[in-house]
Amino acid sequence: ALAVTGSLAYSIYELRHPEEQYEADPNKKTLVILGTGWGSVSLLKKLDTENYNVVVISPRNYFLFTPLLPSCTTGLIEHRSIMEPIRNILRQKKATVKFYEAEATKVDYEKRVVLISDDSEIKGDISHTEVPFDMLVIGVGAENATFGIPGVREHSCFLKEVTDAQNIRKRIMDCVETAMFKDQTEEEVKRLLHMVVVGGGPTGVEFAGELKDFFNEDLKKWIPEIQDNFHVTLVEALPNVLPMFSKQLIEYTESTFKEEEITIRTKTMVKKVTDKYIEAEVTNPDGSKTLETIPYGLLVWATGNAVRPVVRDLMGQIPAQKDSRRGLAVNEYLVVNGTENIWAVGDCAIANYAPTAQVAGQEGAFLARLFNTMAKTDTLEKELQALSHEQSLAKTDEDRNRVFDEIRERQKQLRRTKQIGPFQYSHQGSLAYIGKERAVADISWLSGNIASGGTLTYLFWRSAYLSMCFSSRNRVLVALDWIKARVFGRDVSR
Ligand code: NAD
Repeated sequence: ALAVTGSLAYSIYELRHPEEQYEADPNKKTLVILGTGWGSVSLLKKLDTENYNVVVISPRNYFLFTPLLPSCTTGLIEHRSIMEPIRNILRQKKATVKFYEAEATKVDYEKRVVLISDDSEIKGDISHTEVPFDMLVIGVGAENATFGIPGVREHSCFLKEVTDAQNIRKRIMDCVETAMFKDQTEEEVKRLLHMVVVGGGPTGVEFAGELKDFFNEDLKKWIPEIQDNFHVTLVEALPNVLPMFSKQLIEYTESTFKEEEITIRTKTMVKKVTDKYIEAEVTNPDGSKTLETIPYGLLVWATGNAVRPVVRDLMGQIPAQKDSRRGLAVNEYLVVNGTENIWAVGDCAIANYAPTAQVAGQEGAFLARLFNTMAKTDTLEKELQALSHEQSLAKTDEDRNRVFDEIRERQKQLRRTKQIGPFQYSHQGSLAYIGKERAVADISWLSGNIASGGTLTYLFWRSAYLSMCFSSRNRVLVALDWIKARVFGRDVSR
């Protein structure tokens, strides 16, 4: 057993420290990649880094497996289990990749530089500098949409980053412990234990399901006093939740929520948020509208994506982007319209697909193929030039024929290499956990919609997410977290 463990450890070690790492070369193009999310990381994974001087810039020095982020809000999964350090990913590349933990604040399209700033806690100040590029990939994602609704930024929690999940986890326990404080009015206890989720997309639905699981499986056992007042409400402006799923799956989700006693308030549009209440406009069955005030203890805001300032600024520099509203308009090769050397992937790009991890991952992998091909094409063209020169100098027929054969072979390779088609998204299906060990799955390309509950769907959901985790290390950690929660319950400390 020791020998096996030893050799496994050795092989991982070898994989992470390639013996030969090519250093940066001034004759190669500089490829700058912004972001360490789904798009950028899937590009990095498949990119032959020895063809370019690759620079990665992101304020986050890790990749985050976002599909399991809702589980971190209740402590079912520890956040480090779904984080993969970017340095681990870069160490596995053949050529050295530079990484700067910094935020790209501006892309200067004319000067071909990215302005970056590092808000260093150690230095206590902000360092600014610029990084030149020949080719740029923008994969910076999006920020939380608030639609300018007053009070949202100040009072609600979002669910995009690790810190958001940590804030929610602390806030849930803060609400519970404060509600248990001596001599509270019943009204205040009810308010503190009212958990409101705004936005009935997959993020809101998954979080509401996870939260109610937390209550049913752990909270109410540890703190039975909250049993009667702990309540989860999902608020959605449209007539139903999960609009991207089929009618059958929507109904299944709604009936599951009913069983779980999660209240769904559809046709309810939040207009204002204060520290203790949300104000919402409710459309009644007769079409009339009434304004309602809903008290809350925890407010989670999950109403989708908005364009990041760095992306909006770049859009302003490129006339071809002037009609684009939701992000960088790209062509079928993911080139940002109006540029030749900038590509965009993931939630900051508008390519007629929903802004999902699946799309971003496939876009990143496509760009890796494209860039690998471009480098190969370059090499083949240079070799062909050299061979033509050699042919003109050849003295004997034998030499001429040999070089001619080589030229033909290279031309064949070049034709094959150049045959890379445009990006095409292949939808593998959508999956959302809805609580109570149930999930909804839309795999219409395979066999239609699946809406089922019970152990099988639950296991399917879990194994699908587990297999999608970034590394074996993540997979092991997530599986252990699940086992740990099942055996000992979730950790309810703040
Ligand atoms: P979303 O855009 O899918 O849903 C946001 C919802 O908020 C909408 O239904 C909208 O009507 C509602 N809303 C907006 N303003 C409101 C207001 N003022 N009051 C009440 N409701 C309001 O957002 P999301 O769930 O964050 O998802 C973002 C993207 O990520 C989507 O493309 C989604 O498909 C994808 N995603 C997928 C999964 C999955 O497949 N499991 C999980 C998370 C996210």
